[in-house]
Amino acid sequence: MDITKTKHYSWCAGQLSEGCRKCVQGRKLVLFITGICPQKCFYCPVSEHKFGHDVVYANEWKIENPENPVELFEEARLTQATGAGITGGDPLANVERCCKYIRLLKERFSKRFHIHLYTSLMLVTKERLQKLYDAGLDEIRFHPDLDDDKLWNNLKLAKTFGWKTGVEIPAIPGYEEKTKKLIDFIADKVDFLNLNELELSDTEIPHFKLREKGFKPKDNVSYGVGGSEKTAFELAEYAFRKKLPVHFCTAKLKDGVQMKNRFKLRAQMVGQPYDIITEEGLLIRGCIYLPDTAPASKIPKQENITGRLNDALEKLNFLKADKTVIDEKKGRIVIPKSHARQYSKQIKKAGLVPAIVEEYPTVDGLEVDVEYV
Ligand code: SF4
Repeated sequence: MDITKTKHYSWCAGQLSEGCRKCVQGRKLVLFITGICPQKCFYCPVSEHKFGHDVVYANEWKIENPENPVELFEEARLTQATGAGITGGDPLANVERCCKYIRLLKERFSKRFHIHLYTSLMLVTKERLQKLYDAGLDEIRFHPDLDDDKLWNNLKLAKTFGWKTGVEIPAIPGYEEKTKKLIDFIADKVDFLNLNELELSDTEIPHFKLREKGFKPKDNVSYGVGGSEKTAFELAEYAFRKKLPVHFCTAKLKDGVQMKNRFKLRAQMVGQPYDIITEEGLLIRGCIYLPDTAPASKIPKQENITGRLNDALEKLNFLKADKTVIDEKKGRIVIPKSHARQYSKQIKKAGLVPAIVEEYPTVDGLEVDVEYV
């Protein structure tokens, strides 16, 4: 076993877990199962809109009725997911929901749909683990408190089941000795250790204290904390000597590989054949807005959008029918980027607003750039 650089900007000794392999391909749906969590980690990245609230999200898509999570299946289909990572909050705060969703996903997408779950040790009991195992969970990752070892023994409960077990923690500068103590404890109890690069966050939850504690970003473009990488290498070496397979997951892997791959997969599904998919997985497309539906418009959207867009389309008979799609949600007609420029004058003459838009392929389709042409 040797610590080697992977092709996704991370470092690894031993085999990458199945959950991580699918994650880097962008094939893992992030299932935020509840924002409830009894732990208050000072590096907790969860936003104030989610933490402490019993809300469910499939990637960026809020599940309106958790009893009937139709959005979950649609998001898994649109992102071409072959697995899911259940996160929170602490998923064990709502173990029944976890089990229900694990069963639903496996039923819908097959038994091979790989599901892993993250949990702190606060809510771990033999009964809850048994329920998750019976529901079909494939991999469980624990997130122990590095400042307090009183619950670490709960980890042993997971070993009796036939799933993969791991520990996943951030590499915190100054916490080298505490983390080594944890590594000593887990070396013969889990299948792998995942070290995450510690990251700053814009969250406004009160227990997020990274900035107050003096942690700073390593450069101007990253949320990665200065010194975390060095700590991770020291800890990875230590785990490696104990023959514990270890993966150091960098901030660059998450944003530059995993997220990008997930966006590309979704862009393939939600984009039009004439859209351009960028290297980052964003969509570039031509758009025709009504005067009051353009993204920069401050005027509230009006009623009867479908009818108004159909009327607008009739005036655009110089565009080929197979190159126009009505997007009711955003009150616009989507056309090829080249057509927005080419037919700009005619579109404006028809009282409409042509633009070239670069946007996320996610459910909210957030625009990152709008150029009126
Ligand atoms: S266990 Fe996770 S959700 Fe809970 S406080 Fe820690 S980082 Fe936040």
